[in-house]
Amino acid sequence: MPVGNMEELIPPERILLGPGPSNVSPRVLRSMTAPILGYLDPDFITIMDGVASMLRHIFGTKTGFTLPISGTGSAGMEAGLSNLLEPEDTAVILDNGFFGERMVEIANRQRANVIRVSADWGTPVDPDLLEAELRQHKQIKLVAAVHAETSTGVLQPMADLAKIAHSYNALFMVDAVTSLAGNPVEMDKTGIDFCYSATQKCLGAPPGLSPVALSEMALEALSSRRTKPMSWYLDLGLLRDYWQGGTRVYHHTAPVSMIYALREALRIVSEETLEFRFDRHERNGKALRAGLRALGLTLMVPDQICTYQLTSVQVPDNIDDVILRTRLLKEFNIEIGGGLGRFKGKVWRIGLMGESSRVANVLLLLSALETLLPQMGYEVTAGSGISAANAKLM
Ligand SMILES: *Cc1c(COP(=O)(O)O)cnc(C)c1O
Repeated sequence: MPVGNMEELIPPERILLGPGPSNVSPRVLRSMTAPILGYLDPDFITIMDGVASMLRHIFGTKTGFTLPISGTGSAGMEAGLSNLLEPEDTAVILDNGFFGERMVEIANRQRANVIRVSADWGTPVDPDLLEAELRQHKQIKLVAAVHAETSTGVLQPMADLAKIAHSYNALFMVDAVTSLAGNPVEMDKTGIDFCYSATQKCLGAPPGLSPVALSEMALEALSSRRTKPMSWYLDLGLLRDYWQGGTRVYHHTAPVSMIYALREALRIVSEETLEFRFDRHERNGKALRAGLRALGLTLMVPDQICTYQLTSVQVPDNIDDVILRTRLLKEFNIEIGGGLGRFKGKVWRIGLMGESSRVANVLLLLSALETLLPQMGYEVTAGSGISAANAKLM
């Protein structure tokens, strides 16, 4: 007999208000129980084409090539850097948080020359600093930036960066892991060459796939490589032979059930429409921010540059970060996130992403905080958070 906990799997139904994963609609979960198809079954290929086409719509690209990479958001990040960079290429990476740092780490592992353009955590990167770097160095292959930095909750505007990168003939790569389906990304209009996301944030599917999109310029860069990408599994040229065109060539077994889940999540996004979805994220995020401020808490990022799907809040001096989050989980069934990297123990990260972005969740979390914080020695005026949030929702 096996040793350990072998009971039937019945996980609790959490309210997921952290930096991802977010809650998943029952429709999406049900889609994963559909029968498995072979990876070259004509019916499965029809499903793949539908997913690729819905992805083009939500990335905002008419001519781009889209596919979901097998793996989480970091797989999309690694796919971009390992396919667009070769040893000795120079990349400029904008770094104002934990995920910018991860891009630097991955680009270094491609043996590329990496130039960092940094800003303090909680602030956007100044496009002038990028321009200054590009002016100094010749032949930059790639500029990469994080759209919604989930470690801080800063939304970095993309259009100026794209213009600057292109005026120096560099490719422009964007981390849209937390922004896709939460903020407009508009790849063609913005001028993005490689964009990657993840299923478990604003898209509303389980973790496991990383939708990516490549512009024609990025595809040209792939075909003019001098060397093969270091990663075989993430080789976008090989993956393209499976995802696009008449002869589908097996690369690796598609995670069929996850592709069903993404398909259903994308159908839900298109039923809601992107416009309404962006608006819903913004409204609920604004209500949360008003409520938190009414409780006297300090937000890490000012309104003009914040993401509404992820709000970072300073942990008050006399409150123990871990105890509060544990009590939220145990007593209210709510998960919120702790700080990453240098923000560990100092901030809470509250996500309102995808299905999790609901009025009921905003009010429930504020009410839970109004109950717990005074018990832990932090006074609040009872009802103040909820009424400030309600005022925004009117
Ligand atoms: C979550 C996240 C990632 C990493 O995605 P994983 O799915 O955890 O691999 C990358 N970038 C940003 C901005 C994220 O929020």
